[in-house]
Amino acid sequence: MLLEIKNVQVHYHKVAALKGVDMAVPDNGIVTIIGANGAGKSTTLRAISGLVRISHGEIVFAGQRIDRLPPEKIVALGIAHVPEGRRVFPDLSVEENLRTGAFLRSDRSAIESDLEDVFKRFPRLKERRVQWARSLSGGEQQMLAIGRALMSRPKMLILDEPSMGLSPVMVQEMARIIRDIVERGVPVVLVEQNAELALKLARFAYVLETGKIALQGPAHELHDNEHVRRAYLGA
Ligand code: ATP
Repeated sequence: MLLEIKNVQVHYHKVAALKGVDMAVPDNGIVTIIGANGAGKSTTLRAISGLVRISHGEIVFAGQRIDRLPPEKIVALGIAHVPEGRRVFPDLSVEENLRTGAFLRSDRSAIESDLEDVFKRFPRLKERRVQWARSLSGGEQQMLAIGRALMSRPKMLILDEPSMGLSPVMVQEMARIIRDIVERGVPVVLVEQNAELALKLARFAYVLETGKIALQGPAHELHDNEHVRRAYLGA
């Protein structure tokens, strides 16, 4: 397994947000985490990226323990995290935003070819290359945030609610982009409110309920699970 989360607990001011979570992410495909608001999905992602400190357990990435490392070391090891809510730099251009994703790299010519590659995948960003990020639509900003993450040449991509606030057409476009990233060999950990979409895209799924894994299994099996259908698919 590329990533292993073992019995992880996270507390915010003594209140447990994760109460002993175990997860594994292989080196290909999509693993999704679904769950209600406040279940601990974002906290799980933040624990992986070193943005919150775990109070118990361990997180191992590519054979190395990472749960005590600062976030920038974790990025350098190859984990890129696109947080909820499209955090782009509003006063930088599209191209400048993308270049910030490569800030830990020094391979100049590879950076240039990766930039062109991102523009190929996201033609909307290419057309808006010199525009301020603040002038992009919500969906375009979300694509920019993902493009920027790809500029770090990640070994694993973490996406927190990529479909949030997008129109149905943009949601389909986002799904295409995520599939394309995985096909090119970058595994994805996906958190989604849109459980239908998440279970369609993913190979394996975890259901998180109040800080614990309530269910896990192949995504197509969870899609047919009675509890999942009632609680998360509105069936
Ligand atoms: P959502 O779908 O609403 O984003 P989530 O499943 O991602 O929910 P988390 O954001 O991980 O849930 O939150 C898990 C729990 O931890 C919630 O009870 C939340 O209120 C609490 N929590 C999250 N961040 C903090 C914080 N910085 N300080 C205190 N409590 C927090």
